[in-house]
Amino acid sequence: MPTWEFCRMPRILYIEDNRDNRMLVRRILMASDYEFEVEEADNARLGIEMAQQNKPDLILMDMSMPEMDGLTATRQIRGMDDLRNIVIVALTANAMEGDRERTLEAGCDGYIRKTIDVDKLPDEIIHYLRSRQ
Ligand code: MN
Repeated sequence: MPTWEFCRMPRILYIEDNRDNRMLVRRILMASDYEFEVEEADNARLGIEMAQQNKPDLILMDMSMPEMDGLTATRQIRGMDDLRNIVIVALTANAMEGDRERTLEAGCDGYIRKTIDVDKLPDEIIHYLRSRQ
């Protein structure tokens, strides 16, 4: 498996309110040649709690969620001493350049556009994990 370079299976936390997207991403990551551990949270508050408890290697953060959106959640996570170095990748449906810049300003390491490209997602995640090795 090509994840030899990581000392253990990369742990991914996906924070996303949309159930279909959660199922799609789980399916993609579990079918990948890379071995990922995948956890999900259906809202930002739960996601932050899970991040504090489980310290994932990378968070996939949906930007558009009710109650607390992805920008707010990212800022909160970046303000926590023990979480400030976790890789956070924004998932953004918005094609507007300014909105992508806002994800970086909030503390995301990068962004992946929705609709998710099934063939590219695992490599994109590995790319972001490598950037923090
Ligand atoms: Mn959403």
